Amino acid sequence: MRFDTLAVHGGERVPGPEGSVVFPIFQGTVFTSEPGESYHDIKYHRLNSTPSQTYLHDKLAALEGAQAAVATSSGMAAVTTILHTLLGKGDHLLVGDVLYGGTHDFVTGHAERLGWEYTVIDPHDPSSWAVRDNTKAVLVETITNPMMRVGRLREVVAFAREHGLVSVVDNTFASPVNFRPVVAGFDLVFNSATKYLNGHSDVVAGAVAGSAELVEKVRHTQNLYGGSLDPHAGYLLARSLKTLGVRVRQQNANALALATFLAESPKIAGVNHPGLATHPDHEHARELLSGFGGMLSFRLAGGVAAAEEFMAALTLPAVAPSLGGVETLITRPAVTSHAGMSPEDRVAVGITDDLIRLSVGIEDVEDLLGDFAQALDKM
Ligand code: PLP
Repeated sequence: MRFDTLAVHGGERVPGPEGSVVFPIFQGTVFTSEPGESYHDIKYHRLNSTPSQTYLHDKLAALEGAQAAVATSSGMAAVTTILHTLLGKGDHLLVGDVLYGGTHDFVTGHAERLGWEYTVIDPHDPSSWAVRDNTKAVLVETITNPMMRVGRLREVVAFAREHGLVSVVDNTFASPVNFRPVVAGFDLVFNSATKYLNGHSDVVAGAVAGSAELVEKVRHTQNLYGGSLDPHAGYLLARSLKTLGVRVRQQNANALALATFLAESPKIAGVNHPGLATHPDHEHARELLSGFGGMLSFRLAGGVAAAEEFMAALTLPAVAPSLGGVETLITRPAVTSHAGMSPEDRVAVGITDDLIRLSVGIEDVEDLLGDFAQALDKM
């Protein structure tokens, strides 16, 4: 089955409970047990073993092309549970130099107290990938925020294999529509399912996928830390996954159209989108990804005042952080997603105060282009 068919039929129970075509929410926390049943087969929400959960896990695994998957209570629960599974005291981790702020703060703020060591690497530059005897894992992101850089991910996989490391990737910005990391050789992929996987800005969740053996280890850690996903949220997520391909392809197309339009305007100082030939990773992203994603960032000629004026002149996008929903969102990373970084560190990676980030929705592209054109006309 191809992606869109898997999205609809993957993980489905046929026939469904009581003949229901839509898998229901199993709200109960108590299930009868059979004589001699092993502890691992007990059904309980925190153990990620109830029917609503195993249904969602099967659908997630199908979409990732993975043996197994497990949902978590947030994207942060996914990454922290993975790292707690892979690393013990005295172990060393390689981490990409641009990570989601929460992941960055967790690694830099908690590694020491947990007895972990880490080295920051440039996913574009293999000469920075310095493995040690105690290195256990490497963690990178597919498309980074907000400059939309795409690292040498196939080389990261080969490097991890060569050195016996577990390769982990945060695929939130790409989603499995644009890149399927496990199929490409990553040992574990995780998503903030809050973003594209759910796509309706009404659920916080995470998803981890990989080999049955590794996912079982992650699930075991998660059972102890307690970050399982509530069945109501799981229901909304499974429902949303059915339209993932349809939504993300529209977001890919809309983002590329807007990026191209903005890049042609003399009022725009620069656009970051991997689909543009001017993007430093364009050629490489074309080979690696099946779509360039729905995220882009840009700067107006005119600085912060112009950026604020432009955002206020737009009528369709909501001024809000977060991303991946059906509605277009616009934000200035310097005051939202990257406010925690020092101004110097921000500027060093291109996040100037006037940078604007766009999470493009599924609206009609002509309406989006029209709105951006009228706002630019006012500048
Ligand atoms: N990874 C990326 C790339 C993100 O953008 C986010 C949230 O913005 C996370 C992880 C964390 O996800 P959550 O907010 O679901 O915990």
